[in-house]
Amino acid sequence: MALLVQKYGGTSVGSPDRIKNVAKRIARARAEGHDVVVVVSAMSGETNRLVALAHEIQEFPDPREMDVVLATGEQVTIGLLAMALMDIGIPAKSYTGWQVLVQTDNSHTKARIEYIDDSKMRDDLAAGKVVIVAGFQGVDAEGNITTLGRGGSDTSAVALAAALKADECQIYTDVDGVYTTDPRVVPEARRMNTVSFEEMLELASLGSKVLQIRSVEFAGKYKVRLRVLSSLTDGGEGTLITYEEDPNMEKAIVSGIAFDKNQARINVRGVPDKPGIAYQILGAVADANIDVDMIIQNAGEEGTTDFSFTVSRGDYRHTIDLLQSVQESIGAADIHGDDTVCKVSIVGIGMRSHIDVASTMFRTLAEENINIQLISTSEIKISVLIDEKYLELATRVLHKAFGLDRQQ
Ligand code: ADP
Ligand code: ASP
Ligand code: MG
Repeated sequence: MALLVQKYGGTSVGSPDRIKNVAKRIARARAEGHDVVVVVSAMSGETNRLVALAHEIQEFPDPREMDVVLATGEQVTIGLLAMALMDIGIPAKSYTGWQVLVQTDNSHTKARIEYIDDSKMRDDLAAGKVVIVAGFQGVDAEGNITTLGRGGSDTSAVALAAALKADECQIYTDVDGVYTTDPRVVPEARRMNTVSFEEMLELASLGSKVLQIRSVEFAGKYKVRLRVLSSLTDGGEGTLITYEEDPNMEKAIVSGIAFDKNQARINVRGVPDKPGIAYQILGAVADANIDVDMIIQNAGEEGTTDFSFTVSRGDYRHTIDLLQSVQESIGAADIHGDDTVCKVSIVGIGMRSHIDVASTMFRTLAEENINIQLISTSEIKISVLIDEKYLELATRVLHKAFGLDRQQ
């Protein structure tokens, strides 16, 4: 007998029939003797609908009230799933984030979980109930409703699994595991039986939305046994995230490709080439709470230099406005940008010991006439910024160039 935390995403609870199916799946785990705590997302499309509604009322929605609105999606599905379980004779009880007490900090719309009270959940499990918890939401120390950022139900599930010391956290979604790249973009993508924690962390942070980045961070910190599985098909082991490298396993040089459309490039042209200029530009951006990702400063020429960096698309307008307001004091000739760019990244722990990976990547893109605007690298990944119209093509050709379409 094990304690399982099972998380079902939006598509998996997207209709009454799907919710009834989830109930059957939970019933099966119970029949095998397991205790189950379930985390659910809002029905698919619901969170987008709520975001759009808020924007119809306020151009920049008040963050506290935005969370009040966003958290409603998950409250619907926990109640419906509890009913579906009761209907097939399984005692169940639903909880919102604040009822459990999933306590977070107060950064509305991107809050971090600080503490989870497991007492009510433990009592219910002891009484033979299935516990159902609303994903994506919590409450801050003052009692304000918070949400954890898009895709945050994954993080709720892993955090609950850590708090409950669950035997496994199972992320049920609309694909049957973690693939070499998004199977919706590259049909030849292959499911991985296991993926190392480090690689999963990179893939998630570089845009593979199959797991929210914070859920992977949390899993690593508390060594949660984490598995991604399909809620739509039966059987199958899914993909297990592993924490120890198997020394006997031949490491693929590149094990996966991630992409991120949520990118915008900012160019600051003709700034004085002197110490402190990067700080003047990026300091102003950081003070406005805008995260900067890739950065490049060109070699100076005749006393001036150019500076480019990327921000998420939602911050694009704000960043341009902000820099234009300080353009004179920075002494920049011109500030412009492009919000139709995307980032494509190759990831693999095998890259550590191979130096020719970058050249293969750049050659492959050159052969398709895809221009690279920015590059950033680390030990186990290389990212390039390109025009978004080449996203699918770039992902496809790189997937093939690194042999990911073939059985390893
Ligand atoms: P859920 O609603 O269950 O949380 P998401 O839509 O957030 O589901 O995440 C699942 C989706 O992630 C898949 O449908 C797939 O399109 C996408 N995805 C992106 N990269 C990958 C990958 N490497 N492996 C599997 N799925 C991926
Ligand atoms: N419903 C939230 C979202 O759409 C959280 C989640 O699905 O994980 O982002
Ligand atoms: Mg998700």
